[in-house]
Amino acid sequence: MELTKFIGVAAFGVIVARWAADAVLAWLNRREVQDHAGAVPMAYRDTMDPPTYRRSVEYTLALSRFGRWSDAWEVLVVLVLLFSGVLPASFGAVRGLLGAGAWADAAWIFGVGVAVSLASLPFEAWAQFRLEQRFGFNTTTVATWCLDRVKGFLLALVLGYPLMVFILRLVDWMGPRWWLWAWAVFLGFQLLLLVLAPIVILPLFNKLTPLPDGELRTRLLQLGQRAGFNARTILVMDGSRRSRHSNAFFTGFGRFRKIVLFDTLIAQLSPVELEAVLAHEMGHYKLGHIPKRLAGSALMTLAGFWVIAWLLGRPEFASAFGFAPGSGLAPTLLLFGLLSGSVSFWLSPLLNHWSRVHEFEADAFAARNMASREPLQGALRKLCEKNLSNLTPHPLYSAWHYSHPTLLEREAALARVPV
Ligand SMILES: [Zn+2]
Repeated sequence: MELTKFIGVAAFGVIVARWAADAVLAWLNRREVQDHAGAVPMAYRDTMDPPTYRRSVEYTLALSRFGRWSDAWEVLVVLVLLFSGVLPASFGAVRGLLGAGAWADAAWIFGVGVAVSLASLPFEAWAQFRLEQRFGFNTTTVATWCLDRVKGFLLALVLGYPLMVFILRLVDWMGPRWWLWAWAVFLGFQLLLLVLAPIVILPLFNKLTPLPDGELRTRLLQLGQRAGFNARTILVMDGSRRSRHSNAFFTGFGRFRKIVLFDTLIAQLSPVELEAVLAHEMGHYKLGHIPKRLAGSALMTLAGFWVIAWLLGRPEFASAFGFAPGSGLAPTLLLFGLLSGSVSFWLSPLLNHWSRVHEFEADAFAARNMASREPLQGALRKLCEKNLSNLTPHPLYSAWHYSHPTLLEREAALARVPV
């Protein structure tokens, strides 16, 4: 077989293998959920009442059925892009229109990205206004939803487009070691985003207000002092404008760090349970999980840029998808972007395992810090109930896809923490 033909077949195989493996995992998961659907599992009798449990089963199955369609659609879109000839044709058209150069090439990549997002819009809308609506989670209006998409597009245009141009230029400026420079630029950009996120990006979408004085604020500030974490700002985010799902997170780093609580979380948990959730978040911070994760992702992007440079040195790769020799970095970069998800999928059990280890550590930190396991346990149970979490995922499915351990695993680990 010709090398270019082999590359095409291999790419097709990688995409279909990922899709098939995911479909099998989802099928195993649905079967596991249906097997347990009859009655609330013994371990969860205190957590969920039978009607809520039935709804969580229905919600899990509805999400999974939806995922089957949306995933198949995404695969179809990628296959059409890769094998219909539309990519080299549009690349030629954009270069014809704007001339060969980094601005034109970046515009082409950006345009393909926009087309891929547009193709998934109907599914996103369905998920929000049908699926989430049916289970009482949706609180978004069509106007807010549309405006969110427009803002997202403008953000990508303002931040992503110049970055792309810069990276495309580096090949000419830096010679064979360009990919190391590109990696450094990309890393700097990510750090900048970490700083900008809470100050500029988050307020574009949400209203953030300081947590008002009261029992909760006093508790949380005391917790911060006890944990040696000088929490300057605790902000409340109006998550309820979009969804009834709840969350809490840290954003920014160093001087810029902020604690953000969803208003939905404040409504669902008692002050002591919120304190436990926050102690867990501080655990992530104090145990160095954030720099560790940053370093991990930096290594992954370094590997990614190395692969892109390696592929760029092999003209057969881009020509396997119809690009003329000497098309430059843009086609290789885009092809890598379309294919890399199907390859990195096989790393997700490893990465999610790492993430789950951090979750266990943060849980233990919270329990030790509060000298009690009960507040965190109560919070976790309530969050499972309010979010209609799947209580009985298939072990292989959760190992693959869950960045957080299941409730049962977390409670079992908590029980072993000396407090
Ligand atoms: Zn966590």
